[in-house]
Amino acid sequence: MTQTTIDCTSTTCAYNNHGCTALAVTIGGNTKEATCSTFIALDMRGGLPTADGHVGACQRIDCKHNNELMCEAPEIIITGNTAHCTSYEAR
Ligand code: SF4
Repeated sequence: MTQTTIDCTSTTCAYNNHGCTALAVTIGGNTKEATCSTFIALDMRGGLPTADGHVGACQRIDCKHNNELMCEAPEIIITGNTAHCTSYEAR
């Protein structure tokens, strides 16, 4: 089983403190783009003391890295104000 690490530059997210500090994120989104559903813009920072986030679950069964609702990519890249998963690849 892959422990997918996260390279996240969505600095408006409350879990971003020099990287993703959520223990595990869920990737979801809509028909237009795959996005991080854990993203939340708040006037505070939370999560782990250091950036060590992983993908806990991914709802994008239409992505070729998805196997049984888990991500099998070694690392994903999250960017922008919508926390877009740039590692998404359509099957
Ligand atoms: S690369 Fe694909 S399977 Fe992995 S988190 Fe992004 S959308 Fe989900």
